[in-house]
Parts: sequence; C-alpha cells; structure tokens
Amino acid sequence: MTTALYRKYRPGNFEEVTGQEHITKTLKNAIGMGQISHAYLFTGPRGVGKTSIARIFAKTINCKDIKKGEACNKCVMCKSFIDGKAIDMIEIDAASNRGIDEIRDLRDKIKFAPNQAKYKVFIIDEVHMLTKEAFNALLKTLEEPPAHAIFVLATTEIHKVPDTIISRCQRFDFERINTKLITARLEDISKKEGFEYELKALEMIAVEASGGLRDAISLLDQVSSFNAKKITEMEIKSIIGRADLEQIFNVALLMAKGKTKEPLDIINDLVLRGGDVNQFVKNLLEFLREVFLFKLARRESEKIPKEYLEKVSNATSERELIDILEILANVEKQSKLSSLPQLPLEIALVKIGMSIRGQIYEGIIEKKVSEKSSKEMITDTGSNKWEELLLEIKSSNHSVHAFLKAADPEIDKGVLVLAFLYQFHKERIEDVKNKMILEKAIAKVYGEPLRVKCVLKKGEKMKKEEDKKSDIVAKSIEIFGGEIVG
Ligand SMILES: [Zn+2]
Repeated sequence: MTTALYRKYRPGNFEEVTGQEHITKTLKNAIGMGQISHAYLFTGPRGVGKTSIARIFAKTINCKDIKKGEACNKCVMCKSFIDGKAIDMIEIDAASNRGIDEIRDLRDKIKFAPNQAKYKVFIIDEVHMLTKEAFNALLKTLEEPPAHAIFVLATTEIHKVPDTIISRCQRFDFERINTKLITARLEDISKKEGFEYELKALEMIAVEASGGLRDAISLLDQVSSFNAKKITEMEIKSIIGRADLEQIFNVALLMAKGKTKEPLDIINDLVLRGGDVNQFVKNLLEFLREVFLFKLARRESEKIPKEYLEKVSNATSERELIDILEILANVEKQSKLSSLPQLPLEIALVKIGMSIRGQIYEGIIEKKVSEKSSKEMITDTGSNKWEELLLEIKSSNHSVHAFLKAADPEIDKGVLVLAFLYQFHKERIEDVKNKMILEKAIAKVYGEPLRVKCVLKKGEKMKKEEDKKSDIVAKSIEIFGGEIVG
C-alpha cells in the first residue's frame, strides 16, 4: 500500500504547518530563546495539527543545530525523528491506554535520562480520556518533573481535563483552519502528486472538512484513488452526499434499535467537526418521514435506497416511529433557540432510546424541554387539528364536546382511537347520533373521513399523558397530512 497522503505531507518544521501561526510563532520564539516549559497543553478540534506540532516541537528542541527556532532536519537527531526511530519521544494514546498502570509505567520511564536526545518528550494524545487515578498520578509527575522531561498533552475536550492539570501547563488553543489555507494546501499536494483537478472541487473538500486539514487531505486521498483521471466538483458532491446519507441512516437505525450511546457519539463527532446540527436534524426528519411512508404504504423514495428504508422500518414499529418523529420535530424548533444547538438533539436521543427500550422517560427533563412547545401547541389552534376538532364540535354540541375533552386521542392506521377514563363517557360518544356529529366534524377538520374507535383507559395513570398524546396526534397529522391512511 502507498503511504497515506496525510502522512506523506506532514509538515517537517514549524514554517510548513498550515494555519496555527499564533502557536508556531510562539513556540519558535521560545525555542530560539531557550525558554522551554515542562508541560504544554494543546487543545482544539481534531485534525488541526496538534500532534504534528507536538512532534515538530519534540524534534526541534532535540536538534543539534537549531536555527531561529527551527530544526535543521539534517543532524543525527533530526534524522532519527524523521525516520520514526527517536526513542526519546514517547507517544501515548490515552484513548486506549487510560489506566493507572500506563501512567505508572510512564513515571518509571520518566526517571531515566534520555538515551540519545537532550530531552525526553512525552506526548499524551486525547489526555481527557485518562481515569481519575491516572490523572492524579500524572499530576504528581507534573508537580516535580525531572529536568530532562517534557510533556505535551493534547485534547479535543479541554473541559474534561482537571483544572489542576491545566494550571500546570502552558496552554495553546488550536483553531479550525481557514478554508482558503486548506484549499491552498490541497492544491499544493495535488500539484506535487500530479493530480488533475477542478479548483472548485478542492474548495468543496476544504469546506466539507470544516477546518480540519487531516480530514481534508484524507478526502483528497480517497477521491484521487477512486478516479485517476480528474478530481471534479460533481464527483466530490456525490461522495459528500453519500457520506451524509450513510451517517443519517446509521443514526436512524441505531435509534430504532433503542441505542443511545452510539448516536450520541456520532453527534458529538459532528459537533467537533463543526457540522451543522440543525441541518442534521432536518435531514434525519426527512429520512424518517420516508421510512414512515415506506412502513405505512410501502412507498419507495427517490433519494434513499430501499435497503436503508427496509432496515430501519423493520427495526421499529409504527408507534415507535411516530414517537421518534414527534420528539425530533420538537428538536428542530428548540435547536434554533438553544445556545447549545446539539443539546435538544442529545436529550431527544436519550428519550427515544429509553422509550424504545420500554423505559419511562417522562421526568423533569421531559417536562422542561416540552413545556414551551406544548404550550405553543395548545394556544396555536391553527396548527393543532385536535384542538380545532374540539372547537368545531363545541359550536354544534356542547355535551359531545365535554365528553371528547376527557378523551385521549390517538391515530392508528387511519383510525382515530379515543381512550376514555369512564365507561359512561365512552358510551355517550358511541351513541349513534353523537358519533355522527363527531364524524362530520372530523371530515371537515381533517379534510377526510377517519374511522372512530372508542376504548377504555387502563386505569388512572394514563391521564397524565393526555397532553403529550394530543400533541403526538396533532404532530403526526401536521407532518403527514392525509398520507397517514396510506
Ligand atoms: Zn537537526
């Protein structure tokens, strides 16, 4: 296999780094003046150069011929780093080595002076993943580091790193890289590799990578290996579209299976990459709507492969799909108002997961989140068909209206199911004359006839869910209109 482009084009010195100039300049100056700290903390999104700069830093401080804060890339030391043979640079991925044993092992290693280099450099990637015990052990080391030991801690989630650690480090905040800089770098690589390309295509890759150079170069790598001829805008468009759809499909399927952690991870990843949560929710809703129509009426979609529709449809019931859609429809509204756009979606994923696993999610969170929207639903009768129906009936018959108000409405396969607490109420609505009044009003409000079925509620407990259910009915009608009957 050929070397991945990203590895092949790793920067060899600070000058070659794309973006992060505020950091490379500071480090270069510090090295030039011989002012080196014992601990550095690199924080920022993934794929923006944290590890690359950490490695350049380790090489440069050990170079035997530093010039203006840059490594010579020629001396024995530089060569050992370039060849990946520098035994005094120790890289630890905290995501897979998060325990106390690794840190103890590290503490043992620290005691020994470097073998060849001047400094022993420990790069701990994803440092936020360490356990509490491991952090404590690390803290002890940072409190009294040997003169030859230097730490570079890197993280994408600074809020998970204890303050005691942060305060011992010189902190550098990495930024997403400007799209223009990424495009220029992609162009540079393409020229060196002899790729033919449309500039617009490279720009699209840069935008898609949302500030992550590593993702951008990986995508370029992928595209160039697909098609040796030319990298075109159209090709990039279709690749990006496919990737997005696949991600939506994965989240939908995981949700339908009642999973919570995996979809949350995907959302987290999306946010870290600077993705648009609102757009994601919109796409997810559109996708699930197609699944719903497929389940109800075997209606196939032009945009979504049948295989995707089938898989999600088979993993869930109609009732669950309505629940999912109803919860997500609220997310769309809330995300736009939230200062943390991903939060409503995250809460929704937890609720959906619990609901599908048969756990009760109606708690404080549920009430707080839905408070605003359910109030809107109740007062905004224009969009709430059930409320509209009640009003319509009230104008013709007061007693039917009163009995209906006590019912829990639910639409199931084109049937309006009304659940009553008392047998007496149920019987009154089932009365032929009253039922006719009701059916006439339904046809008028919903624009089509719906069969009415009256049932008795199973005990008092369900009464609490009244508001929620009328919401679901209104929402499902709002979303699916007449198509609900199939
Ligand atoms: Zn050197």
